[in-house]
Amino acid sequence: MLDGRANQVILKSANEIEQMRPAGRMVAETLQELAQMVRPGVRLADLNTYVVQKYDRLGVTPTFVDYHGFPDTICASVNEQIVHGFATDRILQDGDILSIDHGATINGWVGDSAITVPVGTISPEAQRLIDVTRESLDAGIAVARVGVRKGDIGAAIQAVLEDAGYGVVRQYVGHGIGRAMHEPPSMPNFGQAGSGMIMRKGMVIALEPMATIGSPETVELDDGWTVRTKDGKLSAHFEHTMALREGEPPDVLTAWN
Ligand code: MG
Ligand code: MG
Repeated sequence: MLDGRANQVILKSANEIEQMRPAGRMVAETLQELAQMVRPGVRLADLNTYVVQKYDRLGVTPTFVDYHGFPDTICASVNEQIVHGFATDRILQDGDILSIDHGATINGWVGDSAITVPVGTISPEAQRLIDVTRESLDAGIAVARVGVRKGDIGAAIQAVLEDAGYGVVRQYVGHGIGRAMHEPPSMPNFGQAGSGMIMRKGMVIALEPMATIGSPETVELDDGWTVRTKDGKLSAHFEHTMALREGEPPDVLTAWN
């Protein structure tokens, strides 16, 4: 999704944003449940199985399954893995950090959100990375509204991460979202304040900062999906889906209760 294709942004009516709410709520609920399941000894595949069974029961479509051939209901990315990890038979160890990215489709509308959670007792360095990455998402949400420029949002996220000494992943970015998980515009986690597209009423976007303790350079594993830091240092990822509003912070559709 290239910048400058503003004409392809699909604006949502107030009614359509209401229709997106159940998917957002489902994603939030499922991520909360998964976060509670995470502990040393749990297999990544167990988390996927939980979602498969839940959504079979509820008739919810797990958005990620078969998305360009992705196999699982969640992306499970451990430690130096940034995004797009598979829910393999890997067993979580005390001290790991786990990023869980998840999407659900209900009535044709998509919700998309991600969290990074500790496994057992983690290092202060890892906890700080998690905390600051979440704060950077909050900073993006705080400025995201109708009339600001895209660069204002990216700059707010970038400032929090870089002020803390972290790398900001450039290769993977946020996006518009609606009936498709990925719509224009791309929403980088970096930028120049005052530059870029003006955000408009009816835009629904997913902001998703990915931060690294070391260099933000990425490499993709041979599996064709999993992305990790090139230097092997830890990474964290948080994401929310939100509808922009005028004069106030966005309506976060994947907010936790
Ligand atoms: Mg996501
Ligand atoms: Mg996303």
